[in-house]
Amino acid sequence: MTEIDVLIAGGGPVGLMLACELQRRGVSYRIVTQLMAIDPHSRAIGMQPRTLEILAPLGVTDRLAAAGNWVDGITVSSEGRERADIDLQGLAGETPYPRILIVPEAETEAALEAALVRLGGRVERGRALTGFDHAADGVTATVNGDSGEETIRARWLVGCDGAHSVVRHTLGLGFEGAQFPERFWLADVQMNWSRTLDRAHAFFHPDGIAVAFPFGNDRWRVMMDVPDQRDAADPTLERLRAAFSERAGQAVAMADPRWIGAFAVHHRMVETFRRGRVFLAGDAAHIHSPVGGQGMNTGIQDAHNLAWKLAIVIHGRATEALLDTYDAERRPVARRLLRDVGRATHVVTGLHPALRLFRDQVLLRLVQLGPIRALISQRVAEFDVSYEESLLSSGRGHPAPGRRAPFVFLTRPDGRSATIFDVFDTVGFTALVFAGLSAGDAATAAATVARGALGDLGSVVVVAPSVSADWDGPLLLDRSGAAHQRYGASNGALVLVRPDGYLGFRGRLDDGPSLMRYLQRAHVAA
Ligand SMILES: Cc1cc2nc3c(=O)[nH]c(=O)nc-3n(C[C@H](O)[C@H](O)[C@H](O)COP(=O)(O)OP(=O)(O)OC[C@H]3O[C@@H](n4cnc5c(N)ncnc54)[C@H](O)[C@@H]3O)c2cc1C
Repeated sequence: MTEIDVLIAGGGPVGLMLACELQRRGVSYRIVTQLMAIDPHSRAIGMQPRTLEILAPLGVTDRLAAAGNWVDGITVSSEGRERADIDLQGLAGETPYPRILIVPEAETEAALEAALVRLGGRVERGRALTGFDHAADGVTATVNGDSGEETIRARWLVGCDGAHSVVRHTLGLGFEGAQFPERFWLADVQMNWSRTLDRAHAFFHPDGIAVAFPFGNDRWRVMMDVPDQRDAADPTLERLRAAFSERAGQAVAMADPRWIGAFAVHHRMVETFRRGRVFLAGDAAHIHSPVGGQGMNTGIQDAHNLAWKLAIVIHGRATEALLDTYDAERRPVARRLLRDVGRATHVVTGLHPALRLFRDQVLLRLVQLGPIRALISQRVAEFDVSYEESLLSSGRGHPAPGRRAPFVFLTRPDGRSATIFDVFDTVGFTALVFAGLSAGDAATAAATVARGALGDLGSVVVVAPSVSADWDGPLLLDRSGAAHQRYGASNGALVLVRPDGYLGFRGRLDDGPSLMRYLQRAHVAA
């Protein structure tokens, strides 16, 4: 029996993302998944800006953009009147993707699987993990499929096997939480009504909420809480249409349902994302209401956080202690998500009439105010995910280590435009050496020290207001100084960007030795 480095159980969006990231880092892994084909029932439909950013290096974002429909935000109406427009317009210039992409989850999985195949990998379909033994040096897993039972030895196992995770059950981990009292109806249908395709629409009504998200070509995802919660049956198209029309305050024609059904919402989170040699990611680790559309997005970001750490440990360039930061960084993200989504779900469903009045008359006005709008945009885009408390965050300044590296436009020395994301080493680390706006000659020395500290773990890029004659590596020009300002580096700074695009270390240009100590503390050895 050969031993592989990583066994991934589950080939949904999260397992596929992990496989792509391990594949491009040259890790030996296998990914097995129960289903013979991608599930055509598209649960997740909203791709958030942060997820689109991290899928871009895989070529997945371009493919999804071609298949999906961009929306700027959501218009909220209550009892027949439009009361609020919640949009992401404040994100223009902050990201290449300042909108939400509405695209079926099946398309996202297909795009990820195609990327995996392009990279030289493959998913083993029709094969289910049935159990495993867990030892100090790895796992011995049993996988069943048409070709019979197979035993697989792997140094690490990652459970991306969804809400009913066999991996989580086998570890005996708690999955605490509760079920929301409301059940929801859902349908993917063709709709004939007078709404534009560049926005989602939500309707508050004394009976409950109804929402509609445009896929494009007159097709919409419709969701609402079930009018009579004692009714356990799946909806018919006519009942759903009538209830939706009532809440939307207009007669809406619906036809050609591709999916119509009912679901209940659970809010649960696993007690730890890592036990020994086993990790959990995505729905196997956290499930919650689809309000806010963040479940799959968060799961994909779990995989993105874990992949580079696993790869660097497997390649012997970091000690296993680095892997503890996966749970330390991602569990608080999931905890906050559950809290916020839980509150949002209460606000949009099942409120007492007096609170409904407060929501419609006061809350919907407040969310239109500039600063609150900006906070909501950051939250929806998942740009406020922060690892500031992590062991991997070191140094002072704004943006703080642990925050997402800001997006900025720059110029290449030959005059072509570029963005800072274009030069990030998305497999390794990127040391950004900001020369400072009154550029002295410290940048080249700092860049040389950073290059020595990183070795082949990443690359070094100098960002300077003008061409530097004595730096022979990648250089970007920041003639306006905007990049220096966004990175809080007007006086010069050494900034280390992690492989997942978050700031790890920041210091002065002469802080090269601290960068070396940072890498040691992070258990990374160049
Ligand atoms: C109605 C609805 C709407 C939603 N809308 C959104 C949205 O707009 N945005 C968003 O971000 N999220 C949304 N979500 C959540 C999103 O669908 C999930 O978070 C996402 O699918 C989780 O991906 P995953 O890969 O972790 O798990 P899954 O998609 O469940 O994939 C798990 C995979 O593992 C396989 N598997 C299971 N057991 C085994 C085993 N023992 N061995 C091998 N393979 C196994 C399964 O066949 C499956 O392919 C929504 C959910 C619902 C219900």
